[in-house]
Amino acid sequence: MILKNWLNVSIKLSIRFIFMKYIFDFDDVLFNNTVQFKPHMYDILEKAGVPKDAAQAYYRQIRAVNEFWLKDLLRHFSLNEDLYEKIVDKDVIKNFINHELIAIVKKLGKENCFILTHGGEKFQLDKIEKSGIAPLFADVIAVFGKKNDSIEKICATHRDEEVFFIDDRIEHSKDLNTIKCPNLKTILYTGQDLRNIIS
Ligand SMILES: [Mg+2]
Repeated sequence: MILKNWLNVSIKLSIRFIFMKYIFDFDDVLFNNTVQFKPHMYDILEKAGVPKDAAQAYYRQIRAVNEFWLKDLLRHFSLNEDLYEKIVDKDVIKNFINHELIAIVKKLGKENCFILTHGGEKFQLDKIEKSGIAPLFADVIAVFGKKNDSIEKICATHRDEEVFFIDDRIEHSKDLNTIKCPNLKTILYTGQDLRNIIS
């Protein structure tokens, strides 16, 4: 009887462990965008003659209505396009990843993990590629609008599994259709230790 109960618990735990998917945001979740990448970017621009205030103003103005593309910013300020490669230099930006979370991703396994990022597609995908973590994920998706459709799609594809969505901002997935995603669990990431929650 005890053995039977133990087996039941064990099987349930195993099933729970196998059937889970994880959708991670990139900026300020897997990648330290605000505290590391942006200061690095503004520093290079400043050294090239564009004050941080001016670059930030341009960034905000574009970001409010359109997809941000760093090469457009360089052109706007008549800077050499070569600066682009210096800013997204893979040897530099690989150091900006969130090592704690990446360790969890490696444990969870590539087939269970997705990146869903918001922003200019070209720029986001290039940052992700150059950060070196793309091969750790089953899929990398960039959207300029809301993330809802992509989340709903992943939830539907894996409807028999629990799907975790980890993001530092709620506005990109506001008004998510929970009826379409009964298997979804959202985690607002503020830098907390996720080891006991999702791994
Ligand atoms: Mg984010």
